[in-house]
Amino acid sequence: MDCQNCGAPVDEGWTLCVACELRFAAMLLRLSRDVAPLHDSLDATLHPGGHSPVRIQTATPPTPIRLDVLDLLDLLDATAYELLRRLQGVDALDWRRDPRSEDLGATLITCAGHARLGRFPDAGFYMATVNGLARKTDLALDPPEQRREIGTCELCNTMLTAGTADQWVTCPVCGREQRAQTVKLRRLKMLCWDDSRRGSAAGIAKAFTDAGITLKRNTVNVWRRRGKLDVTPEGITYSSVYRLAISGEPVDELPDEKAKPSGELDK
Ligand SMILES: [Zn+2]
Ligand SMILES: [Zn+2]
Repeated sequence: MDCQNCGAPVDEGWTLCVACELRFAAMLLRLSRDVAPLHDSLDATLHPGGHSPVRIQTATPPTPIRLDVLDLLDLLDATAYELLRRLQGVDALDWRRDPRSEDLGATLITCAGHARLGRFPDAGFYMATVNGLARKTDLALDPPEQRREIGTCELCNTMLTAGTADQWVTCPVCGREQRAQTVKLRRLKMLCWDDSRRGSAAGIAKAFTDAGITLKRNTVNVWRRRGKLDVTPEGITYSSVYRLAISGEPVDELPDEKAKPSGELDK
């Protein structure tokens, strides 16, 4: 027999391999933790700030309830109880008993710890369904505007997005897990190796700082005034800034910055 999720060989009687069974259980547990934040984010006038506890007040939207979140909770609800029935079977003597007497979070936890999770016939199908729900939940809790493009996947070159607090990103196409920092640094290096890439002092400083090399816009402007950078009408080349940033070029002119007439500085 093969694992229904990844195709690895499994023992007779199993439908998921050990790794996939664990991943499935972890997904269900994570979803059980997301039920309360999802309920909280139903109120469209409040933005709960995703997985972080800080609430941000937004302008009142046209509907007081986020219908996408309502649909998602509905789907999650239906899937969880259906999964529990598939796992437990239906009691012939008590067939009318509705598992819905348990709350959704508790049901997800029961499913995650169920002995048949890696053995029941449609395990691969339910794992894919739950995976889709987990992804939608993440999007509902961390709205897309909070996720920024940070660079491309090292395996398949898909553009990856991450929230500001994310340490790891998972490629949506090939599933490769990578450190967010590494992805950003790789993107910066690509900008710097390509002599045709140019930007403004502010844009370049931001790209470096995002990638973990702190660089102030003022610093770039100071280097430019000293004639150390490769400046063209389209902007400064990333590669010339990179050479100076890595060589540890001293910056001692910062107090002068304010004395200079502004205007010519912030290009
Ligand atoms: Zn597997
Ligand atoms: Zn990838």
